[in-house]
Amino acid sequence: MLFGFTAVSSNRKTGGIPTTTSAKGTCWTGCPFYEKGCYAKGGPQNIHWNAISAGERGYEWQAFLSLIRKLQRGQLWRHNVSGDLPVVADGIIDGDKVAQLADANRGRKGYTYTHHPLTDTNLGVIKYSNAAGFTVNVSTESVEVADQVMTDHGIPAVAVVNSEKTDRFYRTESGRKVITCPATIHDNVNCSTCGLCQQSDREFIIAFPAHGVAKKTVNSIVS
Ligand code: SF4
Repeated sequence: MLFGFTAVSSNRKTGGIPTTTSAKGTCWTGCPFYEKGCYAKGGPQNIHWNAISAGERGYEWQAFLSLIRKLQRGQLWRHNVSGDLPVVADGIIDGDKVAQLADANRGRKGYTYTHHPLTDTNLGVIKYSNAAGFTVNVSTESVEVADQVMTDHGIPAVAVVNSEKTDRFYRTESGRKVITCPATIHDNVNCSTCGLCQQSDREFIIAFPAHGVAKKTVNSIVS
């Protein structure tokens, strides 16, 4: 399985930070967006993702880690514009590889998201990674579920929400603050200038309104 590395992203939403892409085999087949509504399944990023998934582009794991180790100290970088955390089997995160990734990230500001199921094993890996400074956000399809994840497990969570839900701030039923990803509502903000997703100890949820070609499908999943 191969992993892509882009030193300076040209993606408008991330801005010019280093980004990565993991082969499709890292995705859990139980992900609600698997084969339907996944943001990564459109445009140039999908062509890139297909090439990595077909083994035509990208790096083996150890070579990939060495690229992460070469990042400048303090560098913000996003793991997985597409793809998920490395796995040993469908839906089972590879704890050894995540520990290696967290170690390679030391001194840098890496962050990512996961749609893998919150089994005890996966939760242990996610908690370890966040404690080690490599931020893993749990991806959910509702701010209420994200709220529950943060309350129950003390780990950061994000939520995909209906495309119409674009208020800058709001609260869950329990009162937890929700911030809409500023890059989705302001043209002059991107990850390189925001970095909220990297803050693993934050108390608020980050919401991503559905967008793009699969917006209707995503709306039907999250509504
Ligand atoms: S909240 Fe900030 S860091 Fe997270 S995706 Fe949006 S712009 Fe990027």
